[in-house]
Amino acid sequence: MKSRNQEHCSFCGKNKKETVILIAGIEAHICEACVSQAHDILTEEMISRDSKSADFKLPENITPVGITEYLNQYIIGQDEAKKYLSVAVYNHYKRLNYTAKDEIDIQKSNILFVGRTGTGKTLMAKTIANFLEVPFTIVDATIFTEAGYVGEDVESMLSRLLQACDFDVEAAQKGIVYIDEIDKIARKNDNPSITRDVSGEGVQQALLKMLEGADVNVPPQGGRKHPEQKMIKINTSNILFICGGAFDGIEKVIARRLNTQVIGFDKSGADEVDQENLLQYVNHQDLKKFGLIPELIGRLPVLTYLEPLDKEALVRILTEPKNALLKQYKMLFDMESKELQFTEGAIGMVAEKAIEFGLGARGLRSICEAILTDAMYHIPSDKEMKTLVVDEEYVKEKLLKSKLQKLKVA
Ligand code: ADP
Repeated sequence: MKSRNQEHCSFCGKNKKETVILIAGIEAHICEACVSQAHDILTEEMISRDSKSADFKLPENITPVGITEYLNQYIIGQDEAKKYLSVAVYNHYKRLNYTAKDEIDIQKSNILFVGRTGTGKTLMAKTIANFLEVPFTIVDATIFTEAGYVGEDVESMLSRLLQACDFDVEAAQKGIVYIDEIDKIARKNDNPSITRDVSGEGVQQALLKMLEGADVNVPPQGGRKHPEQKMIKINTSNILFICGGAFDGIEKVIARRLNTQVIGFDKSGADEVDQENLLQYVNHQDLKKFGLIPELIGRLPVLTYLEPLDKEALVRILTEPKNALLKQYKMLFDMESKELQFTEGAIGMVAEKAIEFGLGARGLRSICEAILTDAMYHIPSDKEMKTLVVDEEYVKEKLLKSKLQKLKVA
């Protein structure tokens, strides 16, 4: 039997004197440093096992209707887009769990949202990613250029996805990428003589493989691929791509098509066309006319539109969603033990201003800031004031003083 002085850690070999605590087992000892290291190894291993065993499952008992119900908590209106998104996501998961017994290849349901700025396209993508608890990233298509030009390679969007989940490749491979401003890489019809690359077609070509599903070598830090940079291989077969764009001017393309159709086939349908909201009739043919190449359109099989937001929708956006803007401001006041009230008239006025500025719901935040900044500045030090009532007069006064007019879209 060893004397107490000869006892040592059976893992690192340190002598008892060199340790703070040496825990005795039946026939071995372990020091505090090795306990701590073992704990780290254990945690790391458990996490990686969890992420590997978590296969592609939707939350329990979820149906497309259930997905829409979740979206409804955060997004106002846009029923059509919600329905398409819910079905696409549901089918995406069915496809992931599908073992190809029959030789039927279920196509990926990448999605394309067409709708004006600030109508909720990004919010839809972000909300669904939250619901599914998968990594999510937003990229702007305008930053991409074809290899050889100044800009980023399309692969860099996967670098961002990887960064969003701490380089967990397994997790990234089931993530969601939202590609904004996809319309900006459309082929420019008006100057066909310009080199292909500047026209955006090169970028569209580069996207094809990725959207469909392929092994892609990704530079971990994004940017351009450098020969000396170590690449990470990502398979994109199970990544859901959601694209969005305003497609300014596509209404004209739609109108032209609808007119010829009406003249050519069914004149009786002419009255039923809702001229105010032509986006609802958008189809793949219109996108081709707009300048997306057919191969890219083919890889975005789910096409849907978002409606412009009217005053009523904007009022609801201000007040109803789980994290509605006014609820957030009220909470900020509440934390100071003060009360914030908005009259109906004031809320309506904020909504009207957002429409006037042409920013959709995106403008609501700046307008509210302009109205409330003064109050939020003074109130914490004002012991007297208990309640702030924001009415139409208050809104008018604050907006007049603010530099908000700069926001107005020409
Ligand atoms: P888009 O991507 O269509 O330009 P966003 O999704 O980025 O617009 O919307 C900007 C902001 O406006 C969102 O963060 C959200 O606060 C609000 N918003 C837009 N549309 C809606 C909507 N339908 N319901 C609730 N909030 C919305």
